[in-house]
Formats: sequence, structure tokens, C-alpha cells
Amino acid sequence: MSPLAFNELRIPLSSVKEGVTEFAFQAEPPVDEAGWGRIFTGKIDVTVRVNRMGDEYLFDLKVKAEGTFVCDRCGEDFQYGVEGRVRTLWTHELDKAGEETDDDVRLLTPSTHEIPLERDVVDALILAIPAKTVCRESCRGLCARCGANLNEKQCDCQKQDTDSRWQGLGELKFE
Ligand SMILES: [Zn+2]
Ligand SMILES: [Zn+2]
Repeated sequence: MSPLAFNELRIPLSSVKEGVTEFAFQAEPPVDEAGWGRIFTGKIDVTVRVNRMGDEYLFDLKVKAEGTFVCDRCGEDFQYGVEGRVRTLWTHELDKAGEETDDDVRLLTPSTHEIPLERDVVDALILAIPAKTVCRESCRGLCARCGANLNEKQCDCQKQDTDSRWQGLGELKFE
């Protein structure tokens, strides 16, 4: 299975029988190198479980990818595997498109012969990006005063900071 470019990710409706059909693809990294695409520089695993109910298709799409993130504490790059999931319902019924549902509803037209997956793969990847990224739980971050990476070395600032902070507290009077 050779990796596909994002715009080659599509499923022909003729290949989807009534019931559940599963598809698996490997995608090249996204070409959007300016934005979020910078995060994902390796191959992306895409699996799609299509549940066909007559002429409606429920797509359950999952992505797995290794991302390069910047640690919120120490500012260093680190690798982290993420998983994302998006569900879309493809239907011919216009009014369903306005219904309240957890699934994203898209309209099929008589000329729809294949379902493009590019947008859903991108959405699933973006959803998979963690809001907070820390290289490891024990990351000690940077010194707020001198900027030293405290994972690598211990600077002298901390001792001074602690001293002056406790000095201030010592002067408070409790009644
Ligand atoms: Zn870190
Ligand atoms: Zn310091």
C-alpha cells in the first residue's frame, strides 16, 4: 500500500455495499507547511468505517499520526502520537442537513460518485492536537528569570527567588 496524497483520499460509492465496509489508507504528510501541517511530518494512517443504510452513508473516520509539538514548559520539540476521529453522514435528504446531530451532515447529489476524505482527515488531525502540550509530566520548564532549561541544568536563580519570597512572607503579621 503506497501512501496517497491528501487529495487522492476518496472512496468511490460503487465500492460501498449495504452494511459496514472498512477501508484503510496511508496518507502522505499534509503539504500545508505554514500552519498546523508543520506538526505532522510523517505518514498518516486513516481508517474509515462506512455504514451504508440504503442511499445514506455514515462515515466513521479515524486518523493516527505522529506529531512534532513544542513543549509549553521548556519550549523543546518532542514527538507525540495522536488519534483523531470525525463522523460524517452523507445523505440525499436536504432537511437532514439542518438537523441537530453529533455527526457532520453533508449533501449527496445525483452526480456524487465518490466521497472525498481530505477535509475530514484534516478536521480529525486538527481535533487531535492537544490543547496543552508538555514533553513529559516531569518537565521542569524554563527558569522564569534567566531562561535556563531546568531539565538540563540547575541555575542559581531559584535559591535567590525562594529566599526573597519567604523573607516577604515573614514580615506579614497574622492577628
Ligand atoms: Zn518540556
Ligand atoms: Zn535561572
